Amino acid sequence: MRAHTVILGAGATMAAIPNGDKNGKKSAVMNGMIQKLALDDLLKNVKLDTKSDNIEDIYSELYAKTEYKAIVVELEKRLYEYFDSLELPDEPTIYDMLILSLTSKDVIATFNWDPLLIQAYVRCYKITNNLPHILCLHGNVAMGYCEEHREFGTKDAICPICNEILTPIKLLYPVKRKNYKDDDYISGCWEAVDEVIKKSYMITIFGYSAPSSDIEAVGLLKKAWGKKEDRQLEEVSVIDIIDEEEMLFKWKDFIYSHHYRYTNNFFDSYLGMFPRRSCETVFAMYSLNVPADNRRGFHRGMTWTDVYSLVDDLCVIEKNTPSDKNLPLYYTAKSFFDR
Ligand SMILES: [Zn+2]
Repeated sequence: MRAHTVILGAGATMAAIPNGDKNGKKSAVMNGMIQKLALDDLLKNVKLDTKSDNIEDIYSELYAKTEYKAIVVELEKRLYEYFDSLELPDEPTIYDMLILSLTSKDVIATFNWDPLLIQAYVRCYKITNNLPHILCLHGNVAMGYCEEHREFGTKDAICPICNEILTPIKLLYPVKRKNYKDDDYISGCWEAVDEVIKKSYMITIFGYSAPSSDIEAVGLLKKAWGKKEDRQLEEVSVIDIIDEEEMLFKWKDFIYSHHYRYTNNFFDSYLGMFPRRSCETVFAMYSLNVPADNRRGFHRGMTWTDVYSLVDDLCVIEKNTPSDKNLPLYYTAKSFFDR
C-alpha cells in the first residue's frame, strides 16, 4: 500500500493541547504572540507599518529593516525559548493518536516549531517502533542534527556515528522568501517530503492555514502532488475549523472532484476512524466497495490503556504480515460479511 502523508500546521498543536500544555501554557498560535512572549518592551521603540498582531507579519517587517537587526536576534531567541518550554500533558493527546494512527510507510511533515509532536513520538515509541517519519519543514526546537553524518533525532540524543551530542537545528523564521536550501536538515526534509508526496495515496492537511508567508511552501507541496487530474484515485483529507467552502477554495488545486473528506476534528478524520490502516480502508471502500465500520478507531477521552489495547491488536497483525504483503483489512463492517 502507498503512503499517507500528513501536513501539520499550528491548528494541529491547538487541537493537541486545547487547554494549554502540561503547565497550562497556551499553544503556539501565531496571533497574540506579543502578549505570550511579553514583547511589548522589545517593540516599544519600533515603528511598525503593519497593524497586525500576527508574529509572522511583525517578524517579516522587522527582518526587512536592517536597523532592527538586534531586535530580530532577540525576537528569535524569545520565540525559540517560548516554544522550547512547551510540554505535553501526561494523558494521551491528539498528537499521540496521530502518530499511532500511521506506520513506517507514512510521513508527518510539520510546519510547527513546538516540540509537542516530537515528545509524542518519543512516548509512542515505547508502544511500537512501527511509526511514521517526521519531517520538520520549518525546523523544530526539539530536533538536533549532525551535519557531518546527516543524522538527526531529539536534540539530547547523540549521533550514532561520531557519538557527539546533536546540534539543535535552526528554525526557519516567517519571511516571505524563505531559503529552504540554506540549512542542510531543512533542505533534506523538503527533498524527502517531495519524494513521499509524489508516491502518496492519501494526503491529510491538519490545521494548516497556508499563511501568506508560506506561498513558496504551498507551491512546493503542490508541485510534488502534481496535477489533480492525475490524482483521480487518491484521497485528500482536511482537518480544520474553517468552513468547508473556504477550505475547498484554499486547497482547490489539490482536490480532484469530490475526492476529499473534510472534518473539523481529528476523531472523524480517516486517521482517527481507521488508525494504522487509513489507506487500506479508504482504498477498499472506494475502489473495492467494501464498507468500513468507523466506530473502532480513536475516541475522545481515551486513557493510555484504551490507546494501548487498540494499537496493540493492530501491531500484532503488522508483525505477523510478511513485509511484501498488504496488511489485511481491519475495519470492515460486519454487514459486509453478512451479505
Ligand atoms: Zn555525527
